[in-house]
Formats: sequence, C-alpha cells, structure tokens
Amino acid sequence: MNQLIYFLRKKLRIVLSQRFWLILLALTALSLSLGTKVPLNAQYVPAAIATNTWRYASFPVENPQAYTSGFGYRISPVTGQSQFHYGLDIAASLGSYVRNWWEGQIVELSDHTACGTMIRIRSGQWTHIYCHLMGSVGNTPQGQYLMDQDGGIIVWLGQNIPLGARIGRVGMTGRTTGPHLHWGLMYGREYVDPALILQEMFRYQAAS
Ligand SMILES: [Zn+2]
Repeated sequence: MNQLIYFLRKKLRIVLSQRFWLILLALTALSLSLGTKVPLNAQYVPAAIATNTWRYASFPVENPQAYTSGFGYRISPVTGQSQFHYGLDIAASLGSYVRNWWEGQIVELSDHTACGTMIRIRSGQWTHIYCHLMGSVGNTPQGQYLMDQDGGIIVWLGQNIPLGARIGRVGMTGRTTGPHLHWGLMYGREYVDPALILQEMFRYQAAS
C-alpha cells in the first residue's frame, strides 16, 4: 500500500506533455488492435490493486477517438472560467458503449447535475465515475435504476458490476459541448488523474 501511495505521489508531479498524450493515444490504438479485451468473468483481485498491477482493468469506453480534456486546471469550455477538471474526457461517437473499469458496486446514480446521467462505482478503496451517459434515472419500490432502453442498458443502485461489463453509452446529458465520457477516479477521498492509471494499464497489458 505504501508503494501505491509513493507511486501516486511521484506520478502526480509529472507534467503531462503533448508527447505523453500522443503515446497514450498510440498505446490505446495498439491495445485495441491487439484485441486485449478483458474477459467478463475476470476475477476481482484486491491484491492486484494493492500491488499496482492493472493487467485486468478495462478501458472505460469502446471506440475512443481522442482525449479531449485532461485532469487539472483548464478554461471551462462551457463557462469560460478557469476551474479544476477532476477527470479525463474521452471523446467517442454518440452511443459508444461505456465499460466498467473494475469490478465493483454501484453506489450512486444521478441525472440532475452538470455530470448528467452518471454512475458511481466503488471497488475497494477506488471509486470510478462515469458522466454524460445516455438514459435517465428512475425509482421504483425495488430501488433506483438507470435505464438506457435503446442501448439495452439497465443497472441498479447497489448492483455488483463485473469488470468490463457495458454499463451505459456515451451521451450528451449534463453540461457538455460534445459527446464524450467524463471519467473520474478517486482513491479514498482523493481524486487521481485517470491518465496515470491508463498509462499503467497499457504498460502492464502490453507486457502481458
Ligand atoms: Zn470532463
């Protein structure tokens, strides 16, 4: 665990250069073309998180086109104000399927904030957040659900979601200027730059 915290501290200091993004994009294309699809029945291995092996993690969206906004300060495309962007924006065509990054439990569904239709999933110490999805949230006596009928998606609050499972589709709900997945990651109460995790995932998956 200390190793992980050290890793995060060290990595968070790295300034993301243009070259870094190009490498990430190239690696994304590589991993997709090699067909490194994550098996849906992959086992949840807590030790994998602790030892920082991201071999099994799933890229969070199918057919990604570009990273359009990184983690950190930026001028908001909507408000024109400088603000901290707590996630990674991954552009994809409207309706592209979003995949669960790591097996976990749905702890929040919402459709009335700037995040749009969103899912928050907890996997041990990690929380992953998916914003601007298609569909909407509803309530029944059996509980709260998110439904995207045309996408064949229905997920429930409290449901356990396998790694790599389709949990929604890229939409334009909430505050957004184009179709993309806003992907947020937290470790404990701290937001983590998702690009750093993707970088580690590609490193391990390319090696395996
Ligand atoms: Zn975003």
